[in-house]
Amino acid sequence: MKSKVIATTCTECNKQQQTHIAYNPDKINHILHLLLSVCTMGIWVLVWLILWAASASRTKSNIQASVVGRSCKYCEKETLILLS
Ligand SMILES: [Zn+2]
Repeated sequence: MKSKVIATTCTECNKQQQTHIAYNPDKINHILHLLLSVCTMGIWVLVWLILWAASASRTKSNIQASVVGRSCKYCEKETLILLS
């Protein structure tokens, strides 16, 4: 688990706020992919990029999921969404 502060907004009162969340980062073994890329004379770079993009997208989903159920500090309703 990692934690960070993200910008969120409330769909109820429209106030923006900083929310501290814990989330699961989707990790990529870049060293392994670098070695595979060298061994395949660069062909593996394509696979690496695809996996990297998928991983970044999963991490973003995990961050979004961690915002669900958090209460707005102004109206105290569970209506926070990720600001992006
Ligand atoms: Zn609110």
